[in-house]
Amino acid sequence: MSQHTVQQAKKIISSGNFAEVGVDIYQVRSLTQPDKSYMVTVERDQVYCECKGYNYRRTCSHAEAIREVVKKQ
Ligand SMILES: [Zn+2]
Repeated sequence: MSQHTVQQAKKIISSGNFAEVGVDIYQVRSLTQPDKSYMVTVERDQVYCECKGYNYRRTCSHAEAIREVVKKQ
């Protein structure tokens, strides 16, 4: 995971740009395109995101942000 991803994830958390919309389902707003948001799903210890970045790299700032949020609960 890149340092950039970690920093973006921290920004999402500190700015509160996420919401729990269902059981283990979170909506995360894009930092670069505020009119966009992505659904992030938590399944046991796995976190999935629907964005393109996740699709390519199996990680993204949205998934990492929610991973941190879930860890703290
Ligand atoms: Zn994502």
